[in-house]
Amino acid sequence: MTASVESLPGERIGLVKSMARGFVCRCPHCGEGKLFGKFLKVRPACDACGLEFHHHRADDLPPYVVIFIIGHIVGYFILELETNYDVPLWFQLSFWPIVTLGSALALLQPVKGAVVGLQYALGMGGFATLPTGPSVAIARSEEVQLGPSDNPTPGLGRA
Ligand SMILES: [Zn+2]
Repeated sequence: MTASVESLPGERIGLVKSMARGFVCRCPHCGEGKLFGKFLKVRPACDACGLEFHHHRADDLPPYVVIFIIGHIVGYFILELETNYDVPLWFQLSFWPIVTLGSALALLQPVKGAVVGLQYALGMGGFATLPTGPSVAIARSEEVQLGPSDNPTPGLGRA
């Protein structure tokens, strides 16, 4: 028996844990496989447990959540500096857009992962069905063409 996959097939993981796994860009079901292939591009399926990701519907929720979080943090500090300190305008106009853009780009993928984890935990859409066993993961990993950096042993799995 393989002990690499922590969760049993057919057993759904709780909301907080699956969202936390998605936030660190891992599969919400097993916590082993990668959730993203490229920046913001969700993989078709988990290469460790076989859970299908392609039917997720994160859509516009991750940007809304990121705007909500960063707007409150950056907005607070802009107001704080403006009211309590004598900060030059050039600093305000150059510093905050960079901070806002950088933190938005840094948060967008983890938040999208958490949203996919949320959909998985609630069984939304295609997440109603869970992978049936390790054989599914093996079959899926052979179907899905991965990039060279994703395959630890080049040449294998590329028939
Ligand atoms: Zn998985």
